Formats: sequence, structure tokens, C-alpha cells
Amino acid sequence: MADNRRRLTLFDFFLLSASLVCLCLAPIPASAHRRKLRFGVDGEFKILQVADMHFANGATTRCLDVLPSQKAHCSDLNTTVFMSRVIAAEKPDLIVFTGDNIFGFDVKDAVKSLNAAFAPAIASKIPWVAILGNHDQQSTLTRQELMKHIVKLPNTLSQVNPPEAAHYIDGFGNYNLQIHGAADSSLQNKSVLNLYFLDSGDYSSVPYMEGYDWVKTSQQFWFDHTSKRLQREYNKKPNPQQGVAPGLAYFHIPLPEFWSFDSKNATKGVRQEGTSSASTNSGFFTTLVARGDVKSVFVGHDHVNDFCGKLKGMNLCYGGGFGYHAYGKAGWERRARVVVAHLNKKRKGKWENVKSIRTWKRLDDQHLSVIDDQVLWSDSAKGSVAPRL
Ligand SMILES: [Zn+2]
Repeated sequence: MADNRRRLTLFDFFLLSASLVCLCLAPIPASAHRRKLRFGVDGEFKILQVADMHFANGATTRCLDVLPSQKAHCSDLNTTVFMSRVIAAEKPDLIVFTGDNIFGFDVKDAVKSLNAAFAPAIASKIPWVAILGNHDQQSTLTRQELMKHIVKLPNTLSQVNPPEAAHYIDGFGNYNLQIHGAADSSLQNKSVLNLYFLDSGDYSSVPYMEGYDWVKTSQQFWFDHTSKRLQREYNKKPNPQQGVAPGLAYFHIPLPEFWSFDSKNATKGVRQEGTSSASTNSGFFTTLVARGDVKSVFVGHDHVNDFCGKLKGMNLCYGGGFGYHAYGKAGWERRARVVVAHLNKKRKGKWENVKSIRTWKRLDDQHLSVIDDQVLWSDSAKGSVAPRL
């Protein structure tokens, strides 16, 4: 396919240079750390998921699994350019990096590599967050040091851990974000969409349970506690709401329940490799379904899977590999997942609660093709009854 042979153009280099210049000049606005996220005047909130950049040292780091025609001119900079292009095309309200942001084994300096990996997001001035994968910590910084560095970067809303749970929670990079209703609507001071970010760890340190890590009991406790608190706030005065505000969960390593799907029974997208989940099931899927607010989970980790499947009312979605120094499949374009939540418009033409959540993917081809557009959830669906607190 001609699109796969795309090389960096002059415009791409302009985007790249602009990203890097902005990164050097941008001060760290303290207010950005507590910037309130809300739905736009168009009643939409859009999230761009970037999974598995595997960034290393920039121009000297070569691409993996690309077509022979792409190989000579392909480096980490292709990842940077793809990000600049997809941000410009989608203009998201939030960018979420779901781990393996850098590929530690090949990284000389984790700070430099992280800064370069996130540069297009920082240059865009769009709020962004990151969590860790299983490869981020394999160079000069530990997982805690990585998150401590990330939270200091411009325009990020990432947190090392929630203050109320920092003394007991496992991992680094567990936090939630509240997306408030549209300005000048009755829900402008209420969270109508809740985002959860969790550290799914790297490798098990438990004897007899080898393999990848998982979302621990302490993290599930924090999620459950936070979800209940957010529901109480949603249901209480002023403007008490019925039911529960929908939520979305982002982490790196897929749950074992992702094994439930193949290319045939997934709602959209493909499976081209196995699911590299933990060897044990920590029960997080059950915790999520029992709580009832999270409508979709988004992960990375398995780069050439990009499907969404629905199990017990919960969508399980892969982001699809984004980065060029990550393993992939030659001729199968690197990609990003977009999620858009839409508000209901009811009385007096004012925006209210969340009506529906959609997703699609953008491919890194000449036209940034949009594929696999689908509705993940709508408030008319069954099962949107508020669970007990
Ligand atoms: Zn990866």
C-alpha cells in the first residue's frame, strides 16, 4: 500500500521542530496541575489514547517491523510526527499515554527520552496524563522516579498517587480525573464523566506467580472507594442526579478477560497476537462490573491487537501500537484510539449528563484514516441503574 511508504515531509519536520522548540521554551504553569476539565460548548469531551510509544533516543533509534521501503528513513521521529499530526487532526481535550512510553532497554537517559516522547503533547498545550507500562523503568529511573518526573512536566494532570491513598496503594501512577459538565449548564460544577488511571505494574514479584503484574487489591480498594465517593457527589445537592456518572479506566496490561475475544466476536478491530495478561486473575474485572460505573477499559501492551469486545456490559478495548520503535506488523499502520463522550441536551437547550460514548481509531497513513467507529455505551442501554453505595 502506498500509504505505508509514507516518509517524513518538510511539513512533518516543521511540526517536529515546533514541538521541540515549544518544549524548550514552555514554562511549567503551576495552575495546569489543577486545571479543571470540562465538556466543551459543543457538548463533547474527546480523549486521545497513545499506547506503547516505546520511545528511546530519537533520530538514532530505528523503527521495528516496518516495510523495507520505510526502513531507511524511519526512527523515533516518526512516532513524534505521527503524534503531532493526530493531535492536529483530532484536537482532543485530553491525551492519555497508556504506558511503555519509553523502551527502557534502549534508553540512554530516561529523563531526556521521556521529555522527547511527550514533546508533541506538551507543545500542543492540551492537558495530558501518563501511566507506566512494563518497559518504562528499564533504564535510568525507577517507576517512582519516572512518575515524579512526569508530574513536573508542563500541562500534565498526572499524579504519582492520590494523597488520600498514598500510604497504602501499590504502584506509581494511580489517580482519577473528573470531567465536569459544560460551562453555563446546571452540571458545570459536577463531575459527569470519571476517568481512572491505574498502574498495572511490570513483572510479578510473587513466588509461584511468574509473568506480568496486575492491578493489586489495594488499587482495587482505592478504585471502589473513589467510585462510591464520586457517585455520592453525583447524587447529592445541588442538582442531584439520578443513577451514576459513567467512567472510563486506563491502564497498560490487559485483564485476563481480554482473552474472551478474537477477531470474529470482538465488536470492532482485530486480534493478531495473544493477550499478555498476568498469569493470575486478580479480580479487577469483577470489581469493575460490580461497581457499575466504568463502561470501558482501555489498555495497550499487545501492540498488534486493536479490538474492542463487550463482556457483561463492559467494553474491553486495546489502543493498538502507536510507536515505531515498538514491535508491530509491517504494513499494518501504527494507530491511536480516540474516545468521545457526548452530553444530553434536555430542558431549555442546556447540556446535561453524558448521553453516549463513542470510539474510533486513527491510522498513521497519508490521510490519517479513521476506522472502526463504534458506540461503546449510551445512557438508554440496560444496566445503567445506580449500584448500591
Ligand atoms: Zn509495549
